[in-house]
Amino acid sequence: MTAFFHRQDGALAVEQVPLARIAAEFGTPTYVYSRAALTAAYQAYAAACKGRNAQVQYAMKANSNLAVLQVFAKLGAGFDIVSGGELKRVLAAGGDARKVVFSGVGKSAAEMELALSHDVRCFNVESIPELDRLNEVAGRVGKRARVSLRVNPDVDAKTHPYISTGLKGNKFGIAFEDVLPTYRAAAALPHLEVTGIDCHIGSQITEVEPYLEALDKVLDVVEALEREGIRLEHIDVGGGLGITYTDETPPDITGFATTLLERVAARGHGHREVLFEPGRSLVGNAGVLLTQVEFLKPGAAKNFCIVDAAMNDLARPAMYEAYHRIEPVALRDAQPVTYDIVGPVCESGDWLGRDRALALEPGDLLAVMSAGAYGFTMSSNYNTRPRAAEVMVDCANVHLVRERELVEDLFRDERLLQD
Ligand SMILES: *Cc1c(COP(=O)(O)O)cnc(C)c1O
Repeated sequence: MTAFFHRQDGALAVEQVPLARIAAEFGTPTYVYSRAALTAAYQAYAAACKGRNAQVQYAMKANSNLAVLQVFAKLGAGFDIVSGGELKRVLAAGGDARKVVFSGVGKSAAEMELALSHDVRCFNVESIPELDRLNEVAGRVGKRARVSLRVNPDVDAKTHPYISTGLKGNKFGIAFEDVLPTYRAAAALPHLEVTGIDCHIGSQITEVEPYLEALDKVLDVVEALEREGIRLEHIDVGGGLGITYTDETPPDITGFATTLLERVAARGHGHREVLFEPGRSLVGNAGVLLTQVEFLKPGAAKNFCIVDAAMNDLARPAMYEAYHRIEPVALRDAQPVTYDIVGPVCESGDWLGRDRALALEPGDLLAVMSAGAYGFTMSSNYNTRPRAAEVMVDCANVHLVRERELVEDLFRDERLLQD
């Protein structure tokens, strides 16, 4: 556990607030975030960036609740967005569009136009057709779009295949051998201004070596372009730094960011701005999913603990077989039993944890740990389940930052046939 999620007289608390109090006030399932944990993770990046030309772009698809964005915006973060919808969230949270970089392989013309109208800092472009579309849209609205190309450095990030993005077989980025010709094409388009280079090799990466390997390849490109007279102002090293879910040992944030910044400087590129695009490492360990035990169901092969949160609330276990630690909110003085912790959804894949030894009774509260990233944002209404409430703890204060959905909301926009 961390300084922000800890036990107070045996009971699990977030900062100064017992989780049991949050469950009593807001019900379950509920996502609970710690403002201090969000701030500490951001400050760990900021410490490495201090005195250097570097900027943190929070990759908001990890957790796009407006209050989370607001916390980061106030700390000075820019944002890495992957849709027009995310840009609207940045604006609604008081963020600065000029500090936004727009990533993603499939930007629509409407999304480009929206982003141009708000003067986003830059578009991370991933293909020639996308360059052409952006050039056309920018010309139509009388703007010049700042562009950085996302290159695929073909390095193995050594992570889950679904979250590895920098290998040849991935849909992401421009193949390494095509990068120089694509830059030449971009530089020749009248409504584009080439300003940077970008790469993002995957997610939940626990070693720094793949980053350095990718960075060296990116810097080679920057130097080759400079020899041709194409000058890049910024180098975006992407996101993907892993967190500890159980026994992973990722590099600490400040050390990781410092290592990359030092490599950039050592190769003579210290005058260029370095952008980081962290998602998970800013929010993952700043949130838990609070849930309540509905039933205990002993069985011959397995014991099941059925809780009120499910795969629609937290998809990572079902989707990636991801491991989340599960902690009882109150500790019982009884013999632990091994359970699979499962939800009420009608799928065998609906599980949150397997083979967990816990002493439980129906009605007990559990905290699914490390659920701040790719938790709520990947949730759905499958089985017509309203999405969970979200709460932000700030010292001794509790703020409801998203109301629990109502069932009526889920089908309000649907229509019956006339006959
Ligand atoms: C998802 C994503 C990130 C953030 O990844 P994390 O693993 O959450 O740090 C950064 N950049 C891009 C382009 C992404 O798609």
